[in-house]
Amino acid sequence: MPRARDPRTIAAANGVGSDTAFGAVTPPLHLSTTYLFDGFEGEGRYAYSRTANPTRDQLADTLAKLEGGAGAVVTSSGMAAVDLVLSQVEPGRLVVAPHDCYGGTYRLLAARADRRQFEIAFIDQSDPAAMGEALGRGPALLLIETPSNPLMRVVDVRVLSSQAKAAGAKVAVDNTFLSPALQQPLSLGADYVIHSTTKYLNGHSDVVGGAVIAAAPADVEALAAWANMTGVTGSPFDAYMTLRGVRTLFPRIERQQQNAAAVAAFLQAHRAVSAVHYPGLASHPGHEIARSQQSGFGAMLSFDLAGGTEAVRKVVEAVQVFSLAESLGGVESLIAHPATMTHAAMSPEARAIAGIGDGLLRLSVGLESEADLLADLDQALGTLS
Ligand code: PLP
Repeated sequence: MPRARDPRTIAAANGVGSDTAFGAVTPPLHLSTTYLFDGFEGEGRYAYSRTANPTRDQLADTLAKLEGGAGAVVTSSGMAAVDLVLSQVEPGRLVVAPHDCYGGTYRLLAARADRRQFEIAFIDQSDPAAMGEALGRGPALLLIETPSNPLMRVVDVRVLSSQAKAAGAKVAVDNTFLSPALQQPLSLGADYVIHSTTKYLNGHSDVVGGAVIAAAPADVEALAAWANMTGVTGSPFDAYMTLRGVRTLFPRIERQQQNAAAVAAFLQAHRAVSAVHYPGLASHPGHEIARSQQSGFGAMLSFDLAGGTEAVRKVVEAVQVFSLAESLGGVESLIAHPATMTHAAMSPEARAIAGIGDGLLRLSVGLESEADLLADLDQALGTLS
């Protein structure tokens, strides 16, 4: 039996040397939308690129191996990936989602529920009573985001998955914030893993894309059929670029999380900062669960400024190494104000319930030098005194 490949080897080299036409080491980019039939009724492995494309398949195969799934469907965005999973929910059934999920996911769930495509319960998934009540309603799907965006709350995927299964629900985990390099939800009991590949998997802030990886072959088949019917499959060029990003996933995220740990420690000691949300801090309420289900704490964090909106304005206008922008997971460091940017799609009431205050800032920590990142935050926070 050949030795099972280490995920680092899969990320760096899955599909390398697989080109049978010219022996290209790097798998080629296949842009053709359509493929020759081998005579009458002679449809080959590929016929039409919406349905299947060799470049997209290379990425799907790599992601499926990294997440330990039976297969993957690569979509045109992370939202398309979320919606593809939602397309598996039958009308009238219940979806249970975190009350502090990504704002775009929240908006989509609320809009589909408004159209009565399913019922939605947004709950605090770290509250056992709220979870018990929601699972008692017999949901079709439990959607988990851990760590959550932007408050970095951590929930126990093993425990929630087994409770959801006992209640007859499927479990989907949005693994965008950690990537398979740091967390593999299928091994913790989930049925689906969702990614915005726009973030760490591509890693260079130059492709919008998504993917769903499923544990069961039947689920992969169903997702692929729906993605083909609705046309949400990703473009071959984007898949090529994303696979190029995946090659360096491990070294990028490992270095970025070292920077993030240093930034978190710096912020925690700063008097203008009233709270730091980073699962790597021993004081974080989800620290122990994160240790048990993650192989690293990641490079995302958020923090509250005691001075509220006015303090936020001063800091985001003063930073020079951090760029004021949405999104995350790229090699460059970004700073975002969830209340007016990433989570503006949520109503002020929904943000208040989720604990997303006006003084909250989110950081996606990149690959710059640690000293430059700390100096930048130091001078920006210095404008508050
Ligand atoms: N899921 C999470 C956790 C996200 O942060 C995002 C985007 O920020 C999405 C899904 C949506 O991904 P995309 O922007 O690629 O559609």
